[in-house]
Amino acid sequence: MQTETKIEFMVNNRKYSLISDLHTHTVYSHGKGSIEDNVVAAIGKGLKTIGISDHGPSHLGFGMSRKDIPKMRSEIEALRDKYPEIEILYGIEANIVNKNGDLDIKPAEFALFDYVMAGYHYGAIGRNPVGTMFNAAHNLIEYRTGREPKRLIRHNTDYVVSALLKNDVKVLTHPGDKAPMDLLEIAIVCAKTDTLVEINTHHMSLSAQDITTMALADVKFIIGSDAHKPGRVGDFVAGVNVLLDAGLDLDRVVNLRVE
Ligand SMILES: [Zn+2]
Ligand SMILES: [Zn+2]
Repeated sequence: MQTETKIEFMVNNRKYSLISDLHTHTVYSHGKGSIEDNVVAAIGKGLKTIGISDHGPSHLGFGMSRKDIPKMRSEIEALRDKYPEIEILYGIEANIVNKNGDLDIKPAEFALFDYVMAGYHYGAIGRNPVGTMFNAAHNLIEYRTGREPKRLIRHNTDYVVSALLKNDVKVLTHPGDKAPMDLLEIAIVCAKTDTLVEINTHHMSLSAQDITTMALADVKFIIGSDAHKPGRVGDFVAGVNVLLDAGLDLDRVVNLRVE
């Protein structure tokens, strides 16, 4: 594979480029840049669409504040007028906070965003903080030691599956990161619920083998930079490399353009 620029690459005489990046963070959670910084970076990389997706409010330390939602929305409206050459979407990376499938935004709040992504994170506190923290600690220990007991995999899988079935989630962010889970079962539910599986180039949580496994389900993929600083917006080459290693038909990646 030969990389031409940060947003274009050649494989077998075909040119591929990234057209959107829906996973970027700003100072409203724990990113380094402003919304405008990410927009300008995305324009510089030739993206057609940029999504602003800060962490949901229940995340200790990283979570955005609910009171900032209207401010972020109006900032984005103003930037749409200022930069008509790019589509700017207001999203969120919500936290899955319990085994009932609840996210840290309420169903009535979904309409405040253009799209909702969801992921499993340590440090997200739901209505059962003790249980959530116990589960996070358990995952942290097992994940770091490389042990993946079946009971924990079952628990984590149920956690994610219930959230996908209960909520209209556009993208499942970094599946398998921080918590072992049954990736095939999750991919089957993603296919059923029309949820995109993220190839996250920040965490790189999915190996080529994982992608091959998930691709057995009729699911589509999306590459996300998970940029926490503007310079990483649109960073996607590592994701393409692992997809190629997996032998995935790149037409199944919704934000790659093939020329
Ligand atoms: Zn995340
Ligand atoms: Zn993220």
